[in-house]
Amino acid sequence: MIDGHLVPDAIVLRVVKHRLDDPDVQRRGFLLDGFPRTEPQATALIELLGDNPLDAVVNLEVPAAVVRKRLLVRRVCTRCETPTVARNREHTVYCQNCGGTAVRRPDDSPESIERRLAAYEEQAGPLLAVFAKAGMLVEIDSLGSPDDVFDRVMRALQPTLWGTGEAVG
Ligand SMILES: [Zn+2]
Repeated sequence: MIDGHLVPDAIVLRVVKHRLDDPDVQRRGFLLDGFPRTEPQATALIELLGDNPLDAVVNLEVPAAVVRKRLLVRRVCTRCETPTVARNREHTVYCQNCGGTAVRRPDDSPESIERRLAAYEEQAGPLLAVFAKAGMLVEIDSLGSPDDVFDRVMRALQPTLWGTGEAVG
């Protein structure tokens, strides 16, 4: 992971299955972030969930150039793990929460970011096609402020999660 490589599918699926079987998840539901990343993982997840399928799959759409820019200034506190944003690429910042030092995550090196973006470029199309075919895919334009994006997500998911209208397609 430090080199920007991803964990093998069999391990990821075993970890996900183990957690999804927990009583609190069974009772309250769940949100997966960053998984599945590939078409085989998506197919395996759909199979794993069987008669209790996902309500929706949200794709936060951001151009690669913007993702690259965001990742290069991302910092995380070494003491309390609060995420923060640097003003430029090299800048070390102090944590707003605890005053600790916030640094770049080891997997946010420029080389690692390029590897992840290249992997995404290759895998995203087939991955999203699986969920589009299953009628679960919700595409969200994710440029703008976190609040704007959050509002778009909530509006898009409302019919699916609270059943006030037709299904999101
Ligand atoms: Zn901190």
